[in-house]
Formats: sequence, C-alpha cells, structure tokens
Amino acid sequence: MGEDELKYYMRAGEIAYNAKKFAEGVVKPGKTLLEVADSIEKYIIDSGGDLAFPINLSVNHVAAHRTPLIDDKEAIPEDSVIKVDLGVHINGFIADTALTLIFNDKYIQLGEVVQKALVKGLSQVKPGVKFSDAGRVIEKTVRKAGYKVIKNLTGHNLSQYRIHAGESIPNYRDPFARGRFKAGKAYAMEPFGTDGKGWVKEIHSLIQIYSLRKVPEDLDKLGPEKAKIVDYVTKKFRTLPFCERWLRPLIGELGINEVRGALQELSKSGVLYSYPVLVEVGKGFVVQFEETFVVGDDGPIITTNPVLREEIKTFKKH
Ligand code: MN
Ligand code: MN
Repeated sequence: MGEDELKYYMRAGEIAYNAKKFAEGVVKPGKTLLEVADSIEKYIIDSGGDLAFPINLSVNHVAAHRTPLIDDKEAIPEDSVIKVDLGVHINGFIADTALTLIFNDKYIQLGEVVQKALVKGLSQVKPGVKFSDAGRVIEKTVRKAGYKVIKNLTGHNLSQYRIHAGESIPNYRDPFARGRFKAGKAYAMEPFGTDGKGWVKEIHSLIQIYSLRKVPEDLDKLGPEKAKIVDYVTKKFRTLPFCERWLRPLIGELGINEVRGALQELSKSGVLYSYPVLVEVGKGFVVQFEETFVVGDDGPIITTNPVLREEIKTFKKH
C-alpha cells in the first residue's frame, strides 16, 4: 500500500471515528431515524469526508441495511438497541465502522461481550493469520457469555471504491474460510451478537439501499427517467451504495413514486444491486461493532478508532 493510500484510509477513519462520537450524542429514543441519519451524514460531509454508503440505523431485531426513506416516520423506540453503521471515504478509500447504542439494560452485557469479541478478534490479526482464527476467538467469546454470533454476516476486505472486495471474514471458526490477512491490505471486522437464533434473513419487501451493478450499453433504451437515474448514480456514487435520500434532486424533478418504481425495475433488470433489510430469524435483539484496519507488519492499524488502535498494541504484548 502506498503512503498516500494509507493517509486516505487514516483520514477517512478519523472522520468516521468522530462521526461515531457525534452519533452517541444524537441517537436518542423519540427522535426519528430520518433526522438522525441526515444529521450524522451532514456531520461527515461537513468534516470533509465523502459518504461511502447510506448510514444504517437498524433497530432491535433488525441487523442491517435499514436506512431511512425520504418520507420515513419511524422513531427510535424506548428500550431499544440501535446499530449505527457508517461509511466514510476519501478518494475511494473507505472507513466502514459500526457501534451499537443500547437503551435497554437487558442488553448492556451483550453489548460489552460483542465489543470484547471484536477486540479479541482484532488482536489475532497479523500477516498470514487465517480469517477463521479471528472468527474462532470471536465466537468463543460470544458463546461463553451465553449468546450467539450471527453466522451469515461477515467482515470483509476493502479496496478503492469497493466496500466488499471479495473476501469474507467469518465470525466463527469456518473450515471453508481459507483466506488469510495480508500486509498492506484493508479489512473490516464486524461481529454481530444476538440472543436469538444467530441467523438473519432478507426481507425482500424492504429495500432501501442500492448500488450500480451493470451500466447498459445503450442508456436510452431504458427510457428517459431511468436513463437519468442511472446517469446520476454513475457520476455521483460510482459503484458505492446509495439510497433514495441521496436522490433528492431527482425526486424533486421526477416525483417520489416514479423514482421508487424506477429503482425497483432497475433492480429487477440487473442494472442495480439491491440490499434487502436483514432481520434476525428468532426475533433476537442484535448488537454489532465494527472497525476497519490496515494490516501492518506485526498487527492491525485500526483506522476507525485511535483509542483501540493503541489498546491493541498493549493487549498484544501480554
Ligand atoms: Mn459496516
Ligand atoms: Mn462492513
């Protein structure tokens, strides 16, 4: 990895860390998901970062991919558990990080356990170490406390303008996961813990996040409205995920129902990927923590958390 590249990863990570601190102050029961999402995303942009994906604000048994719609009315409930998963990029170099805010005493311990599991997982990281070895300590930590990891959600490697760049880091000992950490490469580790069954399913009727999959050779064949949307998305977000809140100028021009219909059809015809909302199958509450890191010669350089970056160094000495 070049010096500039590392610098961009670190800068994106610093903004993402500050955005998490900001989120701790704004995510409160009673507020709407929409106002919270808009204010955290505004904070990131005002800090000089670009948004790498729509902020995910996933409530209770919703594990991921919940981002507010443009007319979303849902408020953060009392006694809830809110996952805040946010992404910042600088020139396409991404910080992907998440924390969980817990307004329910019953889940404080689960929160602590998942955080501890992430620290233990991160402390395994060195060039040549198997992804699965990090997964093994993550699951062991969560299971020892009486909870489950969500097995079909994983960490991943990152590359320029690509959040999931092809490799998966399991949150358990997976004999089929053959990948190993490589020096100079960027990864995100993200354990999810639950008091449910440890598995999520896609809710296909709830799609709030999209990304460009394949631009048709002849845009005009799509019709003028869809062509306009594809052109806008290509220029603004490239291959990074987006949501309808980010299409406000287009919605103003074309109307919300037209844009929604077009997004649906573009997903069906394979121009867009769509990311259904993911919920825990046992209706268990879900906690997630996530950090991005670059693998250094003797351990992870955590980009999204300077406090943990130092802690891991000390932790590894013991
Ligand atoms: Mn994330
Ligand atoms: Mn991630």
